[in-house]
Amino acid sequence: MSEKQRAILVLNAGSSSIKLSLFPEFAEGGDTPLVQGMIEGIGTAPRFAATLANGTECDPPAWDGGAELGHDSFYAFLLDWIGEHLPGIELAAAGHRVVHGGTGFEKPQLVDKTVLATLESLVPLAPLHQPHNLSAIRALQKRKADLPQVACFDTAFHRSIPELDQLYGLPRDLAQEGLRRYGFHGLSYEFIAGALPNYDTFAATGRAIVAHLGNGASLCALRNGRSQACTMGFSTLDGLIMGTRCGSLDPGVLLYLMREKGMDADALEHMLYRQSGLLGLSGISSDMRALLGSSKAEARESVSLFCDRVAQKIAALVAMLGGLDALVFTAGIGERSPEIRHAIVRRLNWLGIVVDEAANAEGRARISATESNVAVWVIPTNEELMIARHSRAVLAASGTAAPDMTASGLA
Ligand code: ADP
Repeated sequence: MSEKQRAILVLNAGSSSIKLSLFPEFAEGGDTPLVQGMIEGIGTAPRFAATLANGTECDPPAWDGGAELGHDSFYAFLLDWIGEHLPGIELAAAGHRVVHGGTGFEKPQLVDKTVLATLESLVPLAPLHQPHNLSAIRALQKRKADLPQVACFDTAFHRSIPELDQLYGLPRDLAQEGLRRYGFHGLSYEFIAGALPNYDTFAATGRAIVAHLGNGASLCALRNGRSQACTMGFSTLDGLIMGTRCGSLDPGVLLYLMREKGMDADALEHMLYRQSGLLGLSGISSDMRALLGSSKAEARESVSLFCDRVAQKIAALVAMLGGLDALVFTAGIGERSPEIRHAIVRRLNWLGIVVDEAANAEGRARISATESNVAVWVIPTNEELMIARHSRAVLAASGTAAPDMTASGLA
């Protein structure tokens, strides 16, 4: 009988979706996922789709009464599904995207009871995401107690942001309690920082700004490949206008909404995370493709404001870095929309940035014109691969024995 192929299960668990991929346990096995899949519509009408490395699409299962199914049943399903559909694969470890690592975790962690307790204590800092990330870890622990699990944080890459720049203009003791800028999308930025030397050795050791423009959107300033600033701060609401999130907001707006509209924390949270951004501004869609395809004035204005804010915040980061060697576009919008890239760079022409329109339209890696003072790149991000790489490294450093989760009250 042939030996099973060992693989790392990468999970990105959210409130309504669970994304999974499987990567070979060791780098020599390659960076192509053996399978990629997603359960969407959790809580409403869940559906599952997965694609194998050879392009085979897997048959989705039918869930009766799916709206009532909780996350735990989907993890059970996924483990069973892997067992049934990929009998040649044995799980070596699971790597998780965990949104918040607080100020303590600068690196991915092998999860044990102490790490898990610390991550639990960070739930108030990311109440919409952290509980789902941790419930994935707990669900796997319940079903596969000896499987090593690695937590990879969206905040960790930003721990290099200078201490002073992490502060808000608030009473300082609040910073001790955790009210500070953390920055997010760190796994994406880390991937890009790791890839940049393959494209641009000068910028990789110099000053670069990465624009991660997806449903969630943010910018990161890199110096010598290390994060110096991120437009997301305490939460994932700050900075750019996003699909449904508001971006930077005058805190006076919140006071007004509380006093005059009687909105409480839950109502504000819902509005700021789910009803604002491109969706709220346009009243049409949170999806950039839909807005670019619409002839309505509200769609055009929303896209225009989105680009204005990106350009303004890039300019602020250029001031912080004291100049700029490269601008990198990544994520759904950044990788696929020549129109948005053009609109943003046009607003930055005064910096001496010029796009080569043919290269931009064709989606080449380098889209800046030869006379541009700043190189402009389009580099696809890969957060899942970043998690797999981290998991490989953590496993190699720790030996693959499962950490002690006993007496942790996990069961
Ligand atoms: P997430 O943050 O959920 O991972 P993505 O990185 O996949 O999101 O980005 C989703 C966004 O990318 C959506 O607004 C979508 O409209 C946009 N997008 C995807 N393809 C294109 C395209 N060809 N042109 C413009 N926008 C696009």
